[in-house]
Amino acid sequence: MAADQHVVAVDVGGTSIKAALVDRDLRAITTLREPTRRVGEVADVAQIAELINKLGEGHEVVGAGVAVPGIVDDNLGLVRAAVNLGWVDVPLRDQVADATGVPLLVRHDVRTGGLAEFTVGAGKGADDALFLPVGTGIAAAVQVDGRMLGAAGYAGEIGHVVVDPDGAVCGCGTRGCLETLAAAPAFARRYAERTGRTVADAAGVAALLSTDPDARAVWRDAVDALATALLAAVTLFGPAVIVIGGGVAEAGEALVGPVREELLSRLQFQRRPDVVRAALGQDAGRVGAALLGWQAAESH
Ligand SMILES: [Zn+2]
Repeated sequence: MAADQHVVAVDVGGTSIKAALVDRDLRAITTLREPTRRVGEVADVAQIAELINKLGEGHEVVGAGVAVPGIVDDNLGLVRAAVNLGWVDVPLRDQVADATGVPLLVRHDVRTGGLAEFTVGAGKGADDALFLPVGTGIAAAVQVDGRMLGAAGYAGEIGHVVVDPDGAVCGCGTRGCLETLAAAPAFARRYAERTGRTVADAAGVAALLSTDPDARAVWRDAVDALATALLAAVTLFGPAVIVIGGGVAEAGEALVGPVREELLSRLQFQRRPDVVRAALGQDAGRVGAALLGWQAAESH
């Protein structure tokens, strides 16, 4: 491909949409961030096409990649459900391709981040790898034999694996899902329930770990829950590398170190994975979407 060709990477979120014009070396040439525009309660698909067109002005754009939260059929480019965007059965790939004339791929945001981490990040080169961002929600990108598992959009929902059958009711309706113990909001909620004191967020709990036994107990429960869910994932999929990212992991080794130790202590015959922190941080979505853009260009 010629050197002046570019792709556009788009990371769609419930509050904002981030987009970037990206070159062959995955460098962001121009970036844009806009509040997610809505028509009533529903995020406006036209905004994505407008961002691609705007970033492409004066450049040859040969592909685009779009990362979306929710239940996303990567192969069809179909968003089956994205609660915080108000989307149900939106054929996003076809709609945006029609509006821009640019070949593009649409993928679940966590699998997009996983693609980035497995291609140029902390899991680089691993055929069997698992990416686990721990943030407002928890989901996994699972790659086996070099193939990302999609299952029409339903694979990887590790946040809704039950780790405590007697636990709190999850947003999904089931009791004791991983998210009730280890998603970002669970840390402050569980600390407040236990102590009657409020902290702002998971980082607030992390800051108390050296002095406050209640903070340590909340943190320990989250580590144990993550190890329980990951033990199931390791047993099923045999990853050689587990890459842990997301806002809670950005707190540093306070999460990744103890999860590594706990998980490895529970393994019997299973493959022993490297458990590492994500390398790309907040950029994983953009980098993954850019990789998708280049894939779209090449397959077009
Ligand atoms: Zn759940």
